[in-house]
Amino acid sequence: MVQSEPARPDESSGSPLLRVERVTKTFPGVVALQDVSLEVYPGEVLGLVGENGAGKSTLMKILSGVYQPDSGEIVLDGKPVTLHSPRQAQDLGIAIIYQEFNLMPNLSVEENVFVGREPNTGKVVRWRQLRKQTEDLLDQLGVRLNPGAIVRSLSVAEQQMVEIAKALSLNARLVIMDEPTSALTDTEVAALFDIIRGLKARGLAVIYISHRLEEIFTICDRVTVLRDGQLAGELPVAEATPDRIVRLMVGRPLMDLFRPEQAERRLEILAERSPEPVLEVRGLGRTGTGQDPSAIVLEDVSFSVRPGEIVGLAGLVGSGRTEIARAIFGADEYDRGEILVDGQPTRIRSPREAIRLGIGLVPEDRKLQALVLSLAIRENMALSLLDRLSRFGVVRLGAERALARRMVDALRVRTPSIEQKVLNLSGGNQQKVVIAKWLALHPKILIMDEPTRGIDIGAKAEVHGLMHQLAADGVAILMISSELPEIIHMSDRILVMRQGRIAGELGHAEATQETVMALATGVSASTVAAA
Ligand code: ADP
Ligand code: MG
Repeated sequence: MVQSEPARPDESSGSPLLRVERVTKTFPGVVALQDVSLEVYPGEVLGLVGENGAGKSTLMKILSGVYQPDSGEIVLDGKPVTLHSPRQAQDLGIAIIYQEFNLMPNLSVEENVFVGREPNTGKVVRWRQLRKQTEDLLDQLGVRLNPGAIVRSLSVAEQQMVEIAKALSLNARLVIMDEPTSALTDTEVAALFDIIRGLKARGLAVIYISHRLEEIFTICDRVTVLRDGQLAGELPVAEATPDRIVRLMVGRPLMDLFRPEQAERRLEILAERSPEPVLEVRGLGRTGTGQDPSAIVLEDVSFSVRPGEIVGLAGLVGSGRTEIARAIFGADEYDRGEILVDGQPTRIRSPREAIRLGIGLVPEDRKLQALVLSLAIRENMALSLLDRLSRFGVVRLGAERALARRMVDALRVRTPSIEQKVLNLSGGNQQKVVIAKWLALHPKILIMDEPTRGIDIGAKAEVHGLMHQLAADGVAILMISSELPEIIHMSDRILVMRQGRIAGELGHAEATQETVMALATGVSASTVAAA
C-alpha cells in the first residue's frame, strides 16, 4: 500500500499513533501471530505481555520492518503503511531497542548515536558538532555519559541509554523496548523508568515488553496480553491485577501455579519411610578466591538430601550457594570436608565423575554453560549422552532422534521439530531442553541452580510441575533460587546460607519470606517483618 501524502502527526491525542489490524504471521510449522490487533496512543506506555513463544518479538519485528506480515495492516497516523525494511520503519519514526544491542562496540557513544548520519561538510566529520548534539541528547535523557567513551567499555544499562539516545536523534515517535530490564540492576531499572516517563511526557508512544509483572504495574498505562500468537485480552493497568493478567497469559489462575497436592503426599511418604540420604555433605570448606586468598568461600557446610526430597538452598547472591553446587558436581575444588553418595565417601574431581555417580547439575547460566545455541535440539540432547549413544565413536542418529522426540514430548517443549536450532526457542523452552538433557541420564541427584530464572510464569509452572514429578519418582533435588516465593513454595526444607555458612534450616511449614530473609541477612525476623 503506497500512500499519496506524507504522514502528518495528528493534533488531537484522541486518535492512536499506531494501529495493528488483524496481523497474521507464520513460520514453517508455527503460527507465530494470528489475527492480532492492538493500538498505541501518543504519550502512552503500552505493556505487551505473554508467555515465552506468545509472539511478542515477532510482532515487534513486524513493526520495525524486519518481518513482513502474511496478512493484516499497520496503520500509522490513520494511514496504512508497508514496512519493507528496518530503515523504512526508522524513517517513519519507529525505533526498537533490542535485548541484544545493535551498537558498534569499537566506536564511541557519539559515533554510535549518529552512525551513518554524522554531521559533515563534504567528507570531513564535524566532530565538535557531533559532540554537542550527542551531549544535548544525553542531557535531554538526563543521562551522564561521556560521548567519547567507547561503547565496548560501557555497562549494559549505559549501552541501552545509547540506543535510546540514537532513537531520539532519529526523531522516533514510537519506541519499542523488548525485555529491556533483563540484564539491569534495580537502580538501573529505576533510571530507565525515569527515562521512559520523560519520553511519555514528550508525547512519544512506548511499547514495553516484559514478563515481569511488577514492571508492567509500575510503568505502563495499558496492557495487552498475547497467548499462543493470539490476542488474549487488553486492559488499563488501573483495572488490572496480577491474577487477572496471569489468567489471560496462561489461561488459568495464579493459585494453581505452586505446590500441587502431590507434594504434601510426598512429604507424608518421606516421613513414613524416612529413607537414607542419597547425598550427604559433611564439613565442606573452601578458602580463597582469585582476588582474596584468605576469603572464606564455604565454611563447615553440612547437610543431606534424601531420595524424593526437594531441598532449597536460599541466601543472598554471593552467600555460597552456587559454590556448594559446583563442589558437589566436581566443577570446583574444596579444601576440607567430605561428600557421600549413597553412604559412600567419594572424592568428586570432575563433572564426568559426578555424572557417573548419578549427579546432574542444571547450571545458573544456561546459555553459557549448558547449551550450544547454534545446534539443533537433537544435537544438544546428544552432547551429554555421547558415551551412551555412540558405538565405536559414531553417534547413532536413530537413537539420538528417538530420545530427542521422547523428551520433547515429555517436557512439552514448544517447537515445530527436534531439528530446530536452540537459538530459535524461547527462554522457557531452552530451559526445558537443558533439563531434558539431564533427565535422559536418569540422575539420582539433581542440582538446579536458578532453574526458572528469566522464564515466564507459565513455563515456570511447568518446570515446577516437572520437579515435583521427579521428586515423586525418587530423585533427590537440591534447588538454588533467589526468588523467595519460589523457594518457599517448592522446598520441603530450606537451608539458608549466609557468608559461606549454613545460617539455619527451615521446614516447609515454618518458611516465610520473613524467616528466610532473617537467616539470610542475620537480622531478626521481627525487624525484617517491621521493615
Ligand atoms: P515471544 O517473543 O513472545 O517469546 P516469539 O515472537 O519470539 O515469541 O515467537 C513466537 C513463535 O514463533 C514461537 O513459537 C517461536 O518459536 C516462533 N518463531 C519466532 N521466530 C522464528 C523464526 N525466525 N523461525 C521459526 N520460528 C520462529
Ligand atoms: Mg521475545
